[in-house]
Amino acid sequence: MIIIMQTQATPEQVRAVEDEIQRIGLRPFINPGVERKVIAVLGALDAKKADLVEHFYSFPGVERVDLISHLWKLASREYHPEDSIVEVAGLKVGAGRVIIAAGPCSVESEAQMVEIAIKVKESGAHMLRGGAFKPRTSPYAFQGLGEEGLKILTKARQVTELPVVTEVMDSHEVDLVAKYADLLQIGTRNMQNYPLLKKVGATSHPVLLKRGQGCKIRDLLMSAEYIIAEGNANVILCERGITTFEDSTRSTTDINAVPVLKHWTHLPVMVDPSHATGDWRYVTSVSKAAVAAGADGLLVEVHNDPPRALSDGPQSLRPEKFDTLMSQVRRVAEAVDRSV
Ligand code: PEP
Ligand code: MN
Repeated sequence: MIIIMQTQATPEQVRAVEDEIQRIGLRPFINPGVERKVIAVLGALDAKKADLVEHFYSFPGVERVDLISHLWKLASREYHPEDSIVEVAGLKVGAGRVIIAAGPCSVESEAQMVEIAIKVKESGAHMLRGGAFKPRTSPYAFQGLGEEGLKILTKARQVTELPVVTEVMDSHEVDLVAKYADLLQIGTRNMQNYPLLKKVGATSHPVLLKRGQGCKIRDLLMSAEYIIAEGNANVILCERGITTFEDSTRSTTDINAVPVLKHWTHLPVMVDPSHATGDWRYVTSVSKAAVAAGADGLLVEVHNDPPRALSDGPQSLRPEKFDTLMSQVRRVAEAVDRSV
């Protein structure tokens, strides 16, 4: 349920509604920073919903009381009708310009990371990606450089002045990764790791939440709700391909997810064409499709020497190919009244 206050409602009237919500054992959550106060009522509402709607409607200063049809409340468009803009070190995601994050799957060395960072910046990327803590399917595969990788990312950021997105895998490592990262990535395997979601929700760091390979769009939004309910509304969603019966590509890009998410939620939506296809040959096509469908950004794997990459070489673009991707995506963005 959401309670929409009149624009001229006084702070005392808002307070009285909040107090009443608490008195009946529920939790008020105010959408901060908007002119008209909208109060979400969180908690287990029982069968008396209709009575509650009438009850709150009678409070002074209340304009309307609506039931939110979806299970996610704070992530819903009903609660927050305007698009949310998430700021990542001054870079605005969701503000109309398509934001491109690019870089290797894993941080392997300073020379590798800095070289790729300079190249993707020259092509016009806005953000750097690179994993220091790597969630690998096999325990025998390269697991990432850990904190050393985070330090290398800091160096690449110094050289290029691009903000950095990197994955945090464990709730005990959130503080460590947040010291170095501008945007905390939650990987597909951790989308439903609720202690981790709560932990990043307790920070004020922006979060890139990737969709679980076997999870519905609804599940993704419920996971976003976990983060926002802890007080951190800086959430960017990422469609990164799902598991289907189709096995000609690593995953199947659910392009539908882009307009569905834009309809159901106010949160910005990015697409990762690299993990979604698993093959560099398809990455540029899917990037263009994602931007045409309304994505607010892309997360693209780029490597200076893909055959020798320690992870995800087959899906990594060489810098020259990434340059082509950027110029093609720019034209698609213009065609749909966006910029890059
Ligand atoms: C990654 O971005 O390198 C990654 C591991 O992504 P995902 O969690 O989507 O597989
Ligand atoms: Mn990868």
